[in-house]
Amino acid sequence: MDVHCSTCREPWDTFHLTQDAIYDTGLSHDEASAWRRLPSSEKLAPRYRAEFTSAGWQFGATLLNVIRCPGCRQGDQPDPETLYLKASIEEILGDDFDALASHFNDHQL
Ligand SMILES: [Zn+2]
Repeated sequence: MDVHCSTCREPWDTFHLTQDAIYDTGLSHDEASAWRRLPSSEKLAPRYRAEFTSAGWQFGATLLNVIRCPGCRQGDQPDPETLYLKASIEEILGDDFDALASHFNDHQL
């Protein structure tokens, strides 16, 4: 399933976000592999958010809420309506990965 970047609308496969994108950060291969085994609630701890930010990623409350991605042009801003909508859906569904992926995919978010 795909979710879309709130800034450039690029589609991202949910598997890539949750399994592969971590290897594009500055973490070592071992650290990135360990990250994959963390519970989803710990995957965006401040240290990991900082690593993702350095690699061009910005996420909302979950990895499925892509606010900025490496494909975004510098200076472009995320769509405020999309930001609000995705944050609201996250608030309702929490970290129910499958439900979030399905809602974002269905609504092209
Ligand atoms: Zn983007």
